[in-house]
Amino acid sequence: MVNGRKISAIEATLPSILELSKSNLLASLEALDQPKYRAEQVWRAIYKEGRTSFGQMTNLSKDLRGILAQNYSIGNAATVISKKSADNSTDKILFKLPDGELIETVLMRYEPDGHRRGRKTVCVSTQAGCALGCTFCATGQQGFRRNLTAGEITEQVLTMERLALAEDKEEIQAGTRSRGELQGVTNVVFMGMGEPLANYENMMESIWVLNDPKGIGIGARHITVSTVGLVPGIEKLAKENIQINLAVSLHAPDNETRSETMPVNKRYPIEELIEACKYFVTKTNRRIFIEYVLLKDQNDTSMHANKLGRILKDLLCHVNLIPVNPTDDGPYHRTTYKEAQRFQSDLKTFNVPSTVRMEKGIDIDAGCGQLRDRALALTE
Ligand code: SF4
Repeated sequence: MVNGRKISAIEATLPSILELSKSNLLASLEALDQPKYRAEQVWRAIYKEGRTSFGQMTNLSKDLRGILAQNYSIGNAATVISKKSADNSTDKILFKLPDGELIETVLMRYEPDGHRRGRKTVCVSTQAGCALGCTFCATGQQGFRRNLTAGEITEQVLTMERLALAEDKEEIQAGTRSRGELQGVTNVVFMGMGEPLANYENMMESIWVLNDPKGIGIGARHITVSTVGLVPGIEKLAKENIQINLAVSLHAPDNETRSETMPVNKRYPIEELIEACKYFVTKTNRRIFIEYVLLKDQNDTSMHANKLGRILKDLLCHVNLIPVNPTDDGPYHRTTYKEAQRFQSDLKTFNVPSTVRMEKGIDIDAGCGQLRDRALALTE
């Protein structure tokens, strides 16, 4: 107790070294009279080798290890709950941050298919809570708490990377993976709690760290940012010098329908959003993923499909049609596969490519309970 006040966990926590960009890490070590290559060593130990303590960095001098340990932690998120799905394909971790905020991160494993290697995709949160209030989203109903820092975003991937690397090593030992083939996390999707473009600077800072080939090294084309359509953020992202993917949750083909479930549409109506998407394509030459959750009789009729076809026909995009997994007490019913196929063939008449994703319910309630297949659609 200090002055009758209990010292909280926040005050007891050291600053996380994950908050430092590479240049800031370099500057911090230079200030400690360390040569430049030390920063590379520390960076590699954290992001490539997945070290969880400075004591494990035995290529550093004992003194430096001690100084680092006195001044920094390697992340401050505590695992509160860790769940694995019955089929072992999905892990979800609930993290507690130093100020008590709770966030979720999901790791999804996909078996090799066709010519493709197996993948491990991490879905990260970018905010605690969310201000955008989409009516179908549990996070949106909680309201906004705060933006996550760049280090807090990166730490989610780093934790899952350690898990993925440990699995790779076990497989190598068991002879089911070739020696030396450490794959770790292959894809990252920004579609957990929060709107990534509403926390733009921290999201980008984290993306640069994740993308660094001397660290975790997630290729830009294996990173997807999913937005409900913040137009200025899309325009800004288009100008970044990095080839990441953009996914836009559209979910309705006209302003009236969209505004009913997504209040953001009143600020950035569909016409403006589609213009921003076209700008993104022009600047990046990247195809955009359009997410469209099918709600029976709400947005899944032929009329809706034709409207959607008309607004998307000039956009380089691929539409993921996702029949909603209805919850017991929710107002929405599921569009059948046959109805989804009819919607798809309507879209085809406008030359708009699409895929129907029938989502399997999974037993650990990842994201909105329907995250897994959506993430798969964004990492194929
Ligand atoms: S769907 Fe995304 S943007 Fe909408 S309320 Fe939920 S977290 Fe926020």
